[in-house]
Amino acid sequence: MKKKKVTLLSPAYNEEQALPLFYDTVAALADNLSDRYEWELLFVNDGSTDGTLRVLQELAARDRRVRYVDLSRNYGKETAMLAGFDNASGDCVITIDADLQEPPSTIPLMLEKWEQGYQDVYGRRRKRQQSFMKKSMSRAYHKLLSGMASGPQLSEEAGDFRLLDRKCIDALCRMRETQRYTKGMYDTIGFSKAPVDYDIAPRVAGTTKWTIGKLMHLAADGIMSHSVVPLRLASYMGLIVSAIAFIYLAVVLLKAIIWGDAVAGYPTIVSLILFLGGFILLALGIIGEYLGRIFLETKQRPPYFVNTITPVNEQTQTAD
Ligand code: UDP
Ligand code: MG
Repeated sequence: MKKKKVTLLSPAYNEEQALPLFYDTVAALADNLSDRYEWELLFVNDGSTDGTLRVLQELAARDRRVRYVDLSRNYGKETAMLAGFDNASGDCVITIDADLQEPPSTIPLMLEKWEQGYQDVYGRRRKRQQSFMKKSMSRAYHKLLSGMASGPQLSEEAGDFRLLDRKCIDALCRMRETQRYTKGMYDTIGFSKAPVDYDIAPRVAGTTKWTIGKLMHLAADGIMSHSVVPLRLASYMGLIVSAIAFIYLAVVLLKAIIWGDAVAGYPTIVSLILFLGGFILLALGIIGEYLGRIFLETKQRPPYFVNTITPVNEQTQTAD
């Protein structure tokens, strides 16, 4: 019987300090489970400016399970993961960050669920080590997003730490949009899902790669690539404002008929102009956001460019 192949996929951006520790941990895990599975440790170097590529080259030279995709520049985690999906050769792929925040000790549990037939086994954070601010903002965002999502609901505690069956990977690879929000895509593709709980740990080395700007961008991508509700919002607001304006018009007309036409109402006019002007600009901005995304997608450019890829290692199977 041929062993099933498991790909561990980690995007890495400036992780030269974390990578050796990460490798030691997952290599030990792969060794332990080597009698049941064949392993591929696939890394995507997302345009790192430190020694990440050198570390990956060293690891690949030492361990034939290690492969890496070296991207031509920094594309962000979402696109780096797509590059990983495209090049993973496993029967399932486990996506895991290279900073050991997501405990590899959860992986055997995920594999167990996979063996039971689940195709998308997602890690669910038990508790989060985040500031109150960040936590409540992220909660509010998820409320907003799942309220707007036209498709299935997004689960809040689920992140990118998950096991995906080959079928899921093939589905994700067919979604070639460049403005990616992978967390939403997991729900779009469907397939049978099961959670596995884990505790998130502090980063083992280095610092977080997310800046406020990058997070805002991802948040916008999440909403705009998942829902057209913001566009509809503009029409609803337009309807409401017109209704109020119509009532007000009747009032003004009646007043003029009964008491005559007096020139007054300067404050009303100014506030109306400001309100409507502001609202029209906002609506235009929303349309612009969608239009910009349409512009980027219609060019149909490849989502990323690759510098080097190490070839797939077809391990010679010993009879077992
Ligand atoms: N990452 C990446 N490209 C980026 C930013 C991050 O490949 O532009 C990788 C990073 O190396 C790590 C994972 O994405 O393996 C998660 O990043 P990070 O730990 O900084 O995010 P956090 O855990 O703080 O949300
Ligand atoms: Mg992290």
